[in-house]
Amino acid sequence: MSQAVAAPAGPLPTLSDRHLDPHAYPDGVAFLDGQYLPMSQAKVSVLDWGFLHSDATYDTVHVWDGRFFRLDLHLHRFFGGLEKLRMTIPFDRDGVAEILHNCVALSGHRAAYVEMLCTRGASPTFSRDPRQAINRFMAFAVPFGSVANAEQLRTGLKLAISDKVRIPPASIDPSIKNYHWLDLVRGLYDAYDRGADTALILDFNGNVAEGPGFNVFCVKDRELSTPAVGVLPGITRRTVLDLCAEEGLSAVATDVSVVALKTADEVFITSTAGGIMPVTTIDGTPVADGKVGAITERLMALYWKRHDDPAWSSIVSYP
Ligand SMILES: *Cc1c(COP(=O)(O)O)cnc(C)c1O
Repeated sequence: MSQAVAAPAGPLPTLSDRHLDPHAYPDGVAFLDGQYLPMSQAKVSVLDWGFLHSDATYDTVHVWDGRFFRLDLHLHRFFGGLEKLRMTIPFDRDGVAEILHNCVALSGHRAAYVEMLCTRGASPTFSRDPRQAINRFMAFAVPFGSVANAEQLRTGLKLAISDKVRIPPASIDPSIKNYHWLDLVRGLYDAYDRGADTALILDFNGNVAEGPGFNVFCVKDRELSTPAVGVLPGITRRTVLDLCAEEGLSAVATDVSVVALKTADEVFITSTAGGIMPVTTIDGTPVADGKVGAITERLMALYWKRHDDPAWSSIVSYP
């Protein structure tokens, strides 16, 4: 039985409604400790290492028009991250797929942002040895979210290049999708201060790396390039490379310098949260003529068209 702890005497500090409203969560369904719960009830302990040390990995897949997009690739990446972090969960790939499916089906969302995650957890004795912690798997489905809003998708995003360096791969393997976001969040604040919509962070060599939850591509003379090292290998990035191969467009993962990006014919970013999104301004200067490029538009159309291809998507059966 839970017991309330007596509050100290004296007036409680006042909290704004924004900090008190427990319903200020997106509408959705979470899976936690064997149960499906409304988002507002899905809570973790403050002692969880996922929270205290960012000791966690996750993956995000989306559902569009009632179908998961490339779920197998997301599951593969998630299980790869678990293995590299020496975490274990009591489900195999099919078990996780079923839980994600149930979260979406119960939420009723036909366009959803679906996250699976595992934290190091906590040790019953508060041990500092990570091997003593009991890893915790969780998942949730909330309404689909995008890095870019409708207006930004139409006219292109404004990017600012951050002067912070992305955590180097020698410190943290970037192929493990993780919550080490302080460099990215810092980049966002710097970008907002400079009137941009979002940020790009450079790698330890001064080349372009990635942004808060997205990869980047540039197009020059009909050839595409995207940073090869120091980035999370995004599934949307991979999908762009796959689409280019099918369309006979040359696309390579290589070093992308800031100059190459700023003198590109077209620039776009890629994320499960929004798909392929055009960029038309970098550090206050238009990319080429400042309009969304033709190859970007073509890839955006192909990308969304493939969301009902049975080879790349799987159907959600709603109750
Ligand atoms: C998730 C993520 C991306 C984009 O990956 P997708 O699989 O396309 O969603 C890029 N960079 C970082 C740091 C990410 O966390």
